Amino acid sequence: MSKIVVVGSCNIDITVECDRWVHPGETIFGNRLTVSPGGKGANQAVAAARLGADVMMVGCIGDDVYGQLVLKALKENNVDSTYVKVLPGENSGTAHITVAEDDNTIIVIKAANDLVSPSLIDEAWEDISKADMVLLQHEIPAATNAYVIEKCAAHGVPVLLNPAPVAPVPQALLDKITYLTPNEHEAATLFAGKGKADILDQNQGKVIMTLGSKGVAYAEKGQVITVPGFKVKPVDTTGAGDTFNGAFAVARANGKSMQESISFANAAAALSVQKLGAQGGMPYLHEVEEMLK
Ligand code: ADP
Repeated sequence: MSKIVVVGSCNIDITVECDRWVHPGETIFGNRLTVSPGGKGANQAVAAARLGADVMMVGCIGDDVYGQLVLKALKENNVDSTYVKVLPGENSGTAHITVAEDDNTIIVIKAANDLVSPSLIDEAWEDISKADMVLLQHEIPAATNAYVIEKCAAHGVPVLLNPAPVAPVPQALLDKITYLTPNEHEAATLFAGKGKADILDQNQGKVIMTLGSKGVAYAEKGQVITVPGFKVKPVDTTGAGDTFNGAFAVARANGKSMQESISFANAAAALSVQKLGAQGGMPYLHEVEEMLK
C-alpha cells in the first residue's frame, strides 16, 4: 500500500446560505447553516485515503469544538492523525462561507494552521521520511513548507506542492519539488509573463496544470500533452483540485505512469464535483475504477 503524508491545513467550513447579499450594518435571516470539514491539507488527505492509500496528516488544530470535528472526520476516513497537534488555547482554522445569488464569499481564519512549525516536521520526520509522496499546499507558513521541501529533497522523498492559494514559489524550492499542480490562474500568477506552453515546456514532468472541466496539461519529451477531463454535470466544484491532488499522488505512488495517474485523478475529481461539499463528494476507489472502465 502506498504511503502518503500530507503536511497542511485542517479547517472547518461554516457555510451560511442566504437569498441575497447582506449589506454592511444590516441584519437578515439566512436559510441554512452547514458545518463541514475542509482545509486543503485535510481534504487532500481524505481524498487519498478514500482511494486506498495509507495516509498520515501533519498539522495543527485548536482545543475547541471545531478541532474535535476535524479529528472525527480524519478518523472516519482512516487518516492517521498522530501528528495533528491540538494546541492549548488556540482556535482551529475556520472558513466562513456565505452563499447567495449564485455566488459566494469566503473569509478564512488561519488560526492553528499558522502555527504548523518546523519543529512539528522534526517530530513527525520518521513517518514523513517513509512517505512515497509528501503533499503540501499554501495554507500553512511558507517557511514550514520550505523546511519540508528542503528536508525531503535531501532524503529523496518526492514532494507535490499544490500552490493554492497562490503565493510565490522561489526557483530554488521549485527545483526541489517533484510536482507542482497549479490551476490555470495560479500558473499565470506564478509564472507571470509566460504563456502556458512555455511554463509547461520549461518545467517538463514537473508542472501539472489543471484546467477545470478541460482536464490537465503537462509536458513530456518536448511535447505538451493534454489529458481531457470527464464530461459531467457539476453540482459543487469545491474541493475538485484537492481531490485531483490526493488522487494523483495515490496513483503515482502506486507506480502508474504520468498519463494514467492524471486520468485517474481527473476521474476522481470529476466524481467529486457531482456532489456537495469539499470532502462530501470525494469518491472511493471502486467508483473511480468504474468510471475508468
Ligand atoms: P481548482 O479546483 O484547484 O481550482 P480546477 O478547477 O482546475 O482546479 O479543477 C481541478 C480538476 O478537477 C480538473 O483538472 C478536473 O480534473 C476536475 N474538474 C474540475 N471541474 C470540473 C468539471 N466541471 N467537470 C469535470 N472535471 C472537473
